[in-house]
Amino acid sequence: MIHGYIPPHRFLPYLSWTEISALPDRENTVVVLPVGAIEQHGPHLPCSVDSVISSGVIGKALEKLPAEIRAFGMAPITYGKSDEHLHFPGTMTLTGPTLLATIIELGESVYRAGFRKFLMPNGHGGQPQVLEMAAREMRLRHGDFLVIPYHVSRLPNASGKYVSDEEKRLAMHAGHSETALMMALAPDTVHMERAVANIPPPFPSKILSADGRPACAWTARDFGPSGIIGDPLGATREQGLHILDTLSDSWVTAITDIFRMQWLVREEQSWGYGHQTGHIQAAL
Ligand SMILES: [Zn+2]
Repeated sequence: MIHGYIPPHRFLPYLSWTEISALPDRENTVVVLPVGAIEQHGPHLPCSVDSVISSGVIGKALEKLPAEIRAFGMAPITYGKSDEHLHFPGTMTLTGPTLLATIIELGESVYRAGFRKFLMPNGHGGQPQVLEMAAREMRLRHGDFLVIPYHVSRLPNASGKYVSDEEKRLAMHAGHSETALMMALAPDTVHMERAVANIPPPFPSKILSADGRPACAWTARDFGPSGIIGDPLGATREQGLHILDTLSDSWVTAITDIFRMQWLVREEQSWGYGHQTGHIQAAL
């Protein structure tokens, strides 16, 4: 079966159309689309990292979610926009417009099924711009559609306890916390004997980049031959399990908030492309 990390009882594709059409409270039910990528992550990690982490963290959160909070996981998007890694074999990339169209077309399918709350936790740092454009487009098409793109690792979690300050500042790819999370979620795919540290020099303008991250466009090859941008050497499975546990707890809180929030007043006129009745009122 194809649910992967998503618990089967929360996996939307395992329902029949009649079961979906009979679901109670579809307006508030949160439909979650994990978005990943298949791209090189150095010699020590598999190319599937971003897909494993987005599905793995959300799967753990859906496992823990109290039964009364209505939410389903979709089959994840495993291919993303990874063209900054295309020099390395194993990177399988869509172009930005293809990913944009894919997300919007899936969002339209979610809306057509009667759902009005759509969450997209994304595991790949090279594509939040595409998800934000897709989310805005869906909002313009539908006044009563709550669409939330978010980086899957950006909620509070324990990684700050383990990761060095330099790593926090500059690590972007295949570094400490991604490696630890992979040791927790897919330990057989991690080969620490091949791991190397590769911290890029800070960007040479403090005013353009206070934390030293590159303010210019880059590709992974700009930082060296390994494909790693960060320092994975201190990562352990115990840290990964702790990060996974705390990060999935945060997603339980986020999904619960989304399920309960009444952000839209549907009687009011709003703005968008056409005949819409959504209107932003207040948070929570
Ligand atoms: Zn990654």
